Amino acid sequence: IDFVSTAITMKGTLSEKSHPPLSADLKKQSIQEVRRSLPIFPFREDLLRAITQHQILVIEGETGSGKTTQIPQYLMEDVSLKLLLIRSGLPRRVAAMSVAARVAEETGVKLGNEVGYSIRFEDCTSERTVLKYMTDGMLLREFLTEPDLASYSVVIIDEAHERTLHTDILFGLIKDIARFRSDLKVLVASATLDTERFSCFFDDAPVFRIPGRRFPVDIFYTKAPEADYLEACVVSVLQIHVTQAPGDCLVFLTGQEEIEACCEMLQERCRRLGSKIAELVVLPIYANLPSDMQAKIFSPTPPGARKVVVATNIAETSLTIDGIIYVIDPGFCKQKSYNARTGMESLIVTPCSRASANQRAGRAGRVAAGKCFRLYTAWAFKHEMEETTIPEIQRTNLGNVVLLLKSLGINDLIHFDFMDPPPHETLVLALEQLYALGALNHLGELTKMGRRMAELPVDPMLSKMILASEQYKCSEEVLTIAAMLSVNNSIFYRPKDKVVHADNARMNFTVPGGDHLVLLNVYNQWVESGFSTQWCYENFIQFRSMRRARDVRDQLEGLMERIEVEVVSSLEDSVPIRKAITAGYFYHTARLSKGGYKTVKHQQTVYVHPNSSLFEEQPRWLIYHELVFTTKEFMRQVIEIDSGWLLEVAPHYYKSKELEDSSSKKMPRKQGKTKDELG
Ligand code: ADP
Ligand code: MG
Repeated sequence: IDFVSTAITMKGTLSEKSHPPLSADLKKQSIQEVRRSLPIFPFREDLLRAITQHQILVIEGETGSGKTTQIPQYLMEDVSLKLLLIRSGLPRRVAAMSVAARVAEETGVKLGNEVGYSIRFEDCTSERTVLKYMTDGMLLREFLTEPDLASYSVVIIDEAHERTLHTDILFGLIKDIARFRSDLKVLVASATLDTERFSCFFDDAPVFRIPGRRFPVDIFYTKAPEADYLEACVVSVLQIHVTQAPGDCLVFLTGQEEIEACCEMLQERCRRLGSKIAELVVLPIYANLPSDMQAKIFSPTPPGARKVVVATNIAETSLTIDGIIYVIDPGFCKQKSYNARTGMESLIVTPCSRASANQRAGRAGRVAAGKCFRLYTAWAFKHEMEETTIPEIQRTNLGNVVLLLKSLGINDLIHFDFMDPPPHETLVLALEQLYALGALNHLGELTKMGRRMAELPVDPMLSKMILASEQYKCSEEVLTIAAMLSVNNSIFYRPKDKVVHADNARMNFTVPGGDHLVLLNVYNQWVESGFSTQWCYENFIQFRSMRRARDVRDQLEGLMERIEVEVVSSLEDSVPIRKAITAGYFYHTARLSKGGYKTVKHQQTVYVHPNSSLFEEQPRWLIYHELVFTTKEFMRQVIEIDSGWLLEVAPHYYKSKELEDSSSKKMPRKQGKTKDELG
């Protein structure tokens, strides 16, 4: 790759010469020494004093300064503060688990005792737990059981700068309860972004700044745009490995598939180069990675080798890996995008923001002067990237949070205290969708159905599908499908060197009706095998994903009792199961017309994903689980339905006229327009 030779340097506060220990040396230090070496440590007393003096405090500090791991420990160690429980809300599952594990280690307790974590479908806490790391989504759900968070004395909204949907809603709720719970301490921790806004939102709460400690980072751009950034990443890593001084490397990609592909490519090329190059330790990190694999990224690099961590933007601010000197940034991230007119939500790979790019570059300068290689031109950085990332609340479906807020008795959503209010249409559409699902009545009040739906920690459509299974007497099957959908896209294993075998194995699971039923079939066969690992191996099924599906299923089944749904099995064909799915996902209906699929309500062109069992069959009516935009708008996980069912499950939403055979009608819309419309 041809990088522009004159580098632009991101200023650091430390000079290149003062050489700090690299990661291998760090490991030799005791845990307490490491703790004392963190930038936050000299401010321990000041920080504790500020927390004592103020009810709400915004804490700003560069990523890796110790906010997430140290502040709760300082609070626990301080006897003058009488603590009940501290909870720390983080935007990501992986971060919650990994940080809790780290803090348990630092405090010398077993994970799940004094220090624990709680993420969706996984609770690792006990009665002894005083420090609980949880995702922001879980913290939000906590309001359902304890609206004033009475058993907690400190709440930390961590990674506030990420501005996830849940974090944004938490801001409003916590600001509200802080008014009448004067004993509650609220800490808002953020990287060095946007802190003035947080302070302003919390009625001018003071900002405690932890001075950054950073080495300069040289930034390189490519001369010309890169057509294939995955390939460019692989080449850049190898270039660095061969030409640059020791130091580990961090690569930012957008998701699991890309990361796995990149790791495979790197390993393959290293194998070919053999002993001509030094050892390269290639490690992936992304949200669905099993926790034992996650832990590996923190283990020290063997002497003489170089570590390369291939990550999603989880490594941007949530996780800090010591020893990184080189960063490779292709400049993309995967983002949710939502069209409030059509209600279509889609995951799209888009250029990241300049703020993101700068955070990424900053990761190279934590332990020594570093280098960041941007796989795009300086021109693109300036002209094609947004300044900051748009808060999630402005680009997502709000069904879930609207349902939650309604169940908390917050009826006037238009006047809810949002830091950045969502677009009006999005809010209205969420209300309409909940109405169509039967969760709200025509006055916008929560129905009994809505109340039960809110009890399940899943999206409204999935909740509705589960609840509808009661009526169709197939809750056993639908629970399994719901669990399998939640570990989405990581069930089938397809190693590069055994593609044919893997695809054959997958074909063997095919049953009529569609992908949901294939997932059900896989699960049931696994149950019959006695949850066997060997069975998974032989059938190219990922054992870990199955184990997770089983956990999710168990938890959902546990909740069924609470919302009084009897768990029974459908003894007939798959019709009741597909009807229950339709009852939840009737919004996601597509119809075949003139050789292609269009969504029913908005006539958007969509395509069956090539991995689908219905790819060749092309049934007239389909329901899809989700849309993914790669080269086209793909429907992932589809089932065949009968259009008559739509009138049965959603009579207030579909009119029979809309569902008439349309082959004679004109379809005026041009193809290939979806991208713009979703943009
Ligand atoms: P901040 O929240 O300010 O970004 P953190 O508290 O996450 O900072 O990180 C402080 C230090 O703890 C970093 O040096 C990081 O490498 C280390 N650390 C965090 N999690 C782990 C882990 N799971 N294993 C090893 N080190 C970790
Ligand atoms: Mg942090």
